[in-house]
Amino acid sequence: MIVVFAIDALEYELVEKFGCNNLKQEYYGKTNISEFSQPRTMVLWSSFMTGENKEKEVLKDGDKEMWNKKWPIEKTFFSEFKNPVILDLPGFSYDLKVHEKSRKLLKEFFEAKDKEEKDKIRKEYNKDAFEHHKKIKDEFFKALNEDRDFVLGYFSVADVIGHLNFGNTTMMKMIYKELDEIAEKIKNNNKVDKLIILSDHGMKAIGMFGDHSNYGFWSTDFRELNNPRITDFFKLIKEVKNEG
Ligand SMILES: [Zn+2]
Repeated sequence: MIVVFAIDALEYELVEKFGCNNLKQEYYGKTNISEFSQPRTMVLWSSFMTGENKEKEVLKDGDKEMWNKKWPIEKTFFSEFKNPVILDLPGFSYDLKVHEKSRKLLKEFFEAKDKEEKDKIRKEYNKDAFEHHKKIKDEFFKALNEDRDFVLGYFSVADVIGHLNFGNTTMMKMIYKELDEIAEKIKNNNKVDKLIILSDHGMKAIGMFGDHSNYGFWSTDFRELNNPRITDFFKLIKEVKNEG
């Protein structure tokens, strides 16, 4: 079984700072996303799964419409597999309702005037993010124990929580520890032959808040990838599959 642990906004510098050795694996580094005008989640995951820079196509109807984009499986490398599971991936199997609500709350947070209201919105926003994380995590570990040849789980918690809480080191550390434990658990599952950990972009501090940084994160236990582009994984995963 080939597994992709897809993490939105996993920041290279924080993986180092918090010593997340399971996320690092044997080989790890930054990805090169300099071909994109901005580090946009939907653009990056679309380009990952199709193996082509999809920036123009994803943005053609504007920033708001892009979240509705869905790629047919034939356009992705997922079609190479017999019984793949792809959980919650933007542009493919994304839970639009959950993610729309978090974007709405984020907007309300920045529009809210008094502190009390902001605190209330932040609480609901964080709670939703953790609940959704737990749901995807359960589905992911269930899939890892099924008879699958490919499993991808997409985890948004570091991005969603990061946007409103990046300056809260305690909270961010807790999230990185949680993600590191998931990586450890994947590696201890003997159905898993190859694990790729990948993020679309990282995150940098803007005061108390977080914004996307201009590189992603990758790691494997089987190959040095040397600053790969996010579109390189299309070919890499096909190769790994054919090597058996
Ligand atoms: Zn993202």
